Amino acid sequence: MKEAEKLHYIKRREMVETLKRYGIANRRVLDAFLEVPRHLFFESEAVACAYNDGAYPIGFGQTISQPYTVAFMTTLLVERCPSGKVLEIGTGSGYQAAILDALGYSVFSIERIFELHERAKKLISKLGLHVVCRHGDGTLGWMEHAPFDGIVVTAGAPGEPESLMRQLAERGCMIVPIGGNGSQQMTVIQREEGVFKKELFEYFTFVPLIGREGWDDTVF
Ligand code: SAM
Repeated sequence: MKEAEKLHYIKRREMVETLKRYGIANRRVLDAFLEVPRHLFFESEAVACAYNDGAYPIGFGQTISQPYTVAFMTTLLVERCPSGKVLEIGTGSGYQAAILDALGYSVFSIERIFELHERAKKLISKLGLHVVCRHGDGTLGWMEHAPFDGIVVTAGAPGEPESLMRQLAERGCMIVPIGGNGSQQMTVIQREEGVFKKELFEYFTFVPLIGREGWDDTVF
């Protein structure tokens, strides 16, 4: 291993130790965080911040989420839907998609900002990941590939996203932060025999989910 890679690996191990201290205990999730080189999802001038436990700007008013947030959402998914096909809404930097890929899911990801979509798609292909990316409004889901065993929404939704719920497989679950601008409650919606069961978790702060079944972009 080259010296720079060794340093990144050491920082990654420290990040994983921080996640453990914050209560992330799922071994598969922690292993994925150790495996995925988070610094590659940062612009070169920001690489030094890649292993801090914070969100970071990725341009166009968007952020790569805090590692704890990504780990928390991923754990909710892994514990309920350990394998299968997952749709991510909000590709952003591509990091969450890479974590899902490392966990062995078949990953589909939609991003509404064309430049972010293009950048993430290039990186994902360079890293040889099996993530299918699309540019568009993720609030409508991806009908051609539905149903999904998991849906992970990485932007704050104003309410339960109905089109996405309809694209969940039986026993499939959606992880989605729901709430007003500034604070959203992490919510799991699981489909069981056609009925949607809801579980509520802690509050986080996300950029808004903007689209036909999300927030109106004139509001922000
Ligand atoms: N998952 C990303 C990562 O790992 O870097 C973090 C994403 S950032 C917190 C949320 C992303 O959702 C932004 O890139 C934003 O442009 C995108 N987004 C917001 N509304 C969307 C929509 N309707 N469809 C697709 N992407 C959307």
